[in-house]
Amino acid sequence: MKIQENIPISKLTTMRLGGDAKYVIEISDLSDIPEAYKFAKEKNLPVWVMGGGANTIGRDEGFDGVILINRLRGIEVLSQTADEVVIRAMGGEVWDDLVQFACERGYSGIESMSKIPGTVGAAPVQNIGAYGQDMSQVIESVEAYDPETGDLVIIGKEDMKMSYRSTIFNTGKDAGRYFIVSITIVLENEATLEPPFYNSLQRYIDEHGITEFSPMTIRKCVSEIRAGKLPDPAVEASAGSFFKNIYLDDEQAAEAEAKGLKVWTKPNGSKMINAGYLIEEAGLKGREFHGFKVSKKAALILINESAKSYADLEAARDEIRKIVFDKYGFMLEQEPVEIPAGKE
Ligand SMILES: Cc1cc2nc3c(=O)[nH]c(=O)nc-3n(C[C@H](O)[C@H](O)[C@H](O)COP(=O)(O)OP(=O)(O)OC[C@H]3O[C@@H](n4cnc5c(N)ncnc54)[C@H](O)[C@@H]3O)c2cc1C
Repeated sequence: MKIQENIPISKLTTMRLGGDAKYVIEISDLSDIPEAYKFAKEKNLPVWVMGGGANTIGRDEGFDGVILINRLRGIEVLSQTADEVVIRAMGGEVWDDLVQFACERGYSGIESMSKIPGTVGAAPVQNIGAYGQDMSQVIESVEAYDPETGDLVIIGKEDMKMSYRSTIFNTGKDAGRYFIVSITIVLENEATLEPPFYNSLQRYIDEHGITEFSPMTIRKCVSEIRAGKLPDPAVEASAGSFFKNIYLDDEQAAEAEAKGLKVWTKPNGSKMINAGYLIEEAGLKGREFHGFKVSKKAALILINESAKSYADLEAARDEIRKIVFDKYGFMLEQEPVEIPAGKE
């Protein structure tokens, strides 16, 4: 078990902000998990679990606690029939490596979530999703360490309360409680994928005259679309979508439409306003705020061009929210989570 001291959170997160974490422990073996929690308990310090830091913001005061980074590796097929394949992947695997693993074998269900940065263990936490697919459609269970009891527990999908960017792992009394060791997903074996696909994906398919729809073809299309509009964390600092889309009931949707706003109806019937659309309509695309730039290609993304301080992010976020609220009456909600300061 590798314990490091006084590590800048800015080096652990793709937004590249945040002061020092008192301790950082990389978990590369199952036996490291209870050891690490014991270490934190002995020092009377709180624990924060992380993967790739692609949805996490560090604050200037750092974290007076212990960050555990999941490095548990391994992907295995547990069972397979003509229709279905059940896969278990360890939480420290790179999410996109799992997508590649599935697509190479012709398994379908996560191909549209290609190139989402981060780890497998974080994927269920905010129910990641893209281009019409999300975790709730494929997850069967997670295996997690519960530091309150010291046990490894299996949490089934029905107990995860998954909705848009929300689950028991990030919302409610059990938020932040578990260390997700592995996930089990069920994919379609030898699926026949049929158009129409998610709007922007379908547009790309039509424009490129693509007529064969294997999971790998869809993976390639999604990867191309993303490369053209989303920042590569290795090059540009961001946390992906900085604000959440806004879900509306029928009455709110009618009010929004009456104001001339575009309301999307999802395939499941739910109604939503795209937060990026509001930011763009407000004329903020490409604008700079305190060292952050509203991406010219995807207005939902804030790129950290030169900011070194969380205070700059706070100022940028609050200005954008105020402009959008004053124009449209919707208060945008931040998507990435923030590491609390730690010990009181
Ligand atoms: C350029 C870019 C594009 C993105 N595009 C998308 C997208 O299309 N769709 C999407 O949904 N997201 C997207 N994201 C957000 C991000 O990729 C996902 O949220 C991803 O799941 C984060 O993984 P991570 O390992 O980096 O998580 P981290 O940022 O390390 O952690 C995120 C949360 O999960 C918790 N966590 C992490 N690992 C564990 C574990 N093993 N056990 C328990 N809790 C854990 C953390 O405590 C934290 O609350 C994007 C981000 C970037 C930078």
